[in-house]
Amino acid sequence: MTEESPALYVVPTPLGNLSDMTPRAVETLRRAAWVACEDTRHSAPLFKHFGVSARLLAAHEHNEEAAAQQIVARLDAGESVALVCDAGTPAISDPGARIVARARAAGHRIVPLPGPCAAVTALSASGLADPRFLFCGFLPAKARQREEALRELAGQRHALVFYEAPHRIVETVDALLSAFGPARTLVLARELTKLFETVHACALGEAPAWLEADTNRRRGEFVLIVSGAPPAQDDGEARRVLELLLDEGLPVRQAVKLARAITGAARNTLYELALRQRE
Ligand code: SAM
Repeated sequence: MTEESPALYVVPTPLGNLSDMTPRAVETLRRAAWVACEDTRHSAPLFKHFGVSARLLAAHEHNEEAAAQQIVARLDAGESVALVCDAGTPAISDPGARIVARARAAGHRIVPLPGPCAAVTALSASGLADPRFLFCGFLPAKARQREEALRELAGQRHALVFYEAPHRIVETVDALLSAFGPARTLVLARELTKLFETVHACALGEAPAWLEADTNRRRGEFVLIVSGAPPAQDDGEARRVLELLLDEGLPVRQAVKLARAITGAARNTLYELALRQRE
């Protein structure tokens, strides 16, 4: 099948550097009868730059269901539709999944184009050896919900990939530190593909000071990657340290706090070990 045949084309767009637009993405947008955009005003300069003159449809998180119906109607009429978001790949922490599901349910072909995605771009430069990763997107904004989400992730062996905006970067890094302890590696990837691109890897315990040292380090869009929880044998060290502290008569809370500072083991794991030892 050719790019012109009616289908829903899922088209990634640059994260910041226009040269990252692939020739296939340009061609697909030029040929599509319609382009569904998260924000038509935001995408307008991109379309102008690449000579895209398709009719535009708005498809954002607040109208995704209605947009899906409109898009299915266009596809039913034999017209092709390209779906873009403000930057990166649609449906990755962005609207798109419901549109894709509706179009497929209506019997239409979905054609995904490979291209820019902040998570994958950051992972490629992370240097982390974890063989697997878990994409977590944005953490909840409210502290209690965020803590709960992180508690669930603390024992995960996979590298964890988060998205974060500049106004929450400091509190999110603090929350990662309290949930996962100081020893795991944190990779901060900011302003990827842009002028002030920075990819910095450090121990989670060192990250707040690194951010604090320069206000520029707290600016821009971030991907945060935390290395996976250490393998089970490390629990052995945590268990020994905890045992010593509890034998010295320290209350569980304090023993967990110290064991965490010494071994970097997750708070949850330590609490579980402490309770088992108490039993
Ligand atoms: N769909 C996009 C993708 O494929 O990566 C993600 C969209 S999400 C609404 C926006 C978030 O992606 C930002 O808050 C940031 O966490 C991340 N992001 C986007 N552009 C970035 C960049 N140039 N550098 C680092 N992170 C970026």
